[in-house]
Amino acid sequence: MTPLPCAEILPLSASIKNNRLCIANCDLRDLAEQFGTPLYIYDEQTIRTICRQYRSSFEQRLPGVRILYAAKAYLSPALVSILVEEGLGVDVVSGGELHITQTGGMPPEHIGMHGNAKSRAELTQALNANIGRIIVDNQDEIDLLDQLTRERAQTQDVMLRITPGVDARTHKKTTTGLRDSKFGFPLPSGQAADAVQRILNAPHLNLTGFHIHLGSPIYNTAPYKQGIAVATAFAAEMRDQYGYEWREFSPGGGFAIGYTNNHLPPSINDYADAIATALHTACKKHALPLPEVHIEPGRSIVGRAGVALYSVVARKHIPGVRNYVAVDGGMADNPRPALYESKYKALAPEKITEPTTKTVTIAGKFCESGDILVKDAQLPELVPGDLVAIPASGAYQLAMESNYNLALRPAVIMLRNNEPRLIRRRQTPSDLLATEVI
Ligand code: PLP
Repeated sequence: MTPLPCAEILPLSASIKNNRLCIANCDLRDLAEQFGTPLYIYDEQTIRTICRQYRSSFEQRLPGVRILYAAKAYLSPALVSILVEEGLGVDVVSGGELHITQTGGMPPEHIGMHGNAKSRAELTQALNANIGRIIVDNQDEIDLLDQLTRERAQTQDVMLRITPGVDARTHKKTTTGLRDSKFGFPLPSGQAADAVQRILNAPHLNLTGFHIHLGSPIYNTAPYKQGIAVATAFAAEMRDQYGYEWREFSPGGGFAIGYTNNHLPPSINDYADAIATALHTACKKHALPLPEVHIEPGRSIVGRAGVALYSVVARKHIPGVRNYVAVDGGMADNPRPALYESKYKALAPEKITEPTTKTVTIAGKFCESGDILVKDAQLPELVPGDLVAIPASGAYQLAMESNYNLALRPAVIMLRNNEPRLIRRRQTPSDLLATEVI
């Protein structure tokens, strides 16, 4: 039997049958025929397995821990219903994400809301929904939430997001724990301590604890340990200064996935171990109670479960320079390479057992020369009509998709045991006009 190339970055149910790549026993060619391309494929088994790994790795080490999926990575009602069944909550960052999360059936007490610029309408929507936590980010938000909760005589649990000044060494556009960040309250200036006092004085705000998020994706555990040391020292200061005792703490998300098979992340167990050990040690050092921990993985829950499937449209050979293979999708469904220089691996699902004799650059179809999905991919010879699959496409692709060049957004399917289920239909030209006032 031919070994599966890139097994570590493909969905767990990936296999080779009749020399072709299959996911959940579905042949990708059959899926392309049935649903068209570009197509986004999610493997339910991978999502469920990873949810369970998160729960068991963290629950063993931190009793009472809650896993809240970070909806910004990808959200649909179909995904939310899986998360509900797997016992996860959801962290949202907008009224739109809250709406879809509720539509998917997530109980409100298992929803937290983040954001550095939550509007009055969004905070009101969160209060109307009675969500579990609002993670407050700035002084204006505290003032607004104080006013809204007084007017409504409604008490709301809040966490305070602080910036620990830790460099997680991610791409500069996705690093969030530094002092110069638009997110959270800085510590050295005393603004975080002032915010604690302000919340403690607000009659309807109940401060449950502190939150940090360092960036994404974080390929080692050291930043979590540093962030936890800073957050715990701050919690001890707040106890000493105001007699305030934390009950909850979140080290955020940011857990990495493998996009290419030569750059793989620590295991979920490794992250859980580092976080639990750092928290136990720091709480002991400062004589603080162990708080209930909220973990917010986004990318690592759905990233590996997703595969983007394209058709080859055209080739271009520039002698002595480069071979391009252009496909029928690109930066409209996956803006990550253009935004963050993200690296991916490309596979030829129908030629998965053939030798990879060609070096080609997979170009998207959109009108930007930066619309390159994979540079210098090693692949068998491809001709128009062949399929190209890009693994690790489940997170921050569809979530950041656009209608650039008025492309129609792709269909999305969820696979379980040989059964493809359409969870989002492909857009039609009339969808492009749906919001236009003519
Ligand atoms: N929590 C917060 C506050 C975030 O800002 C993010 C991502 O930006 C996440 C969690 C999820 O990060 P990831 O998808 O890398 O796990």
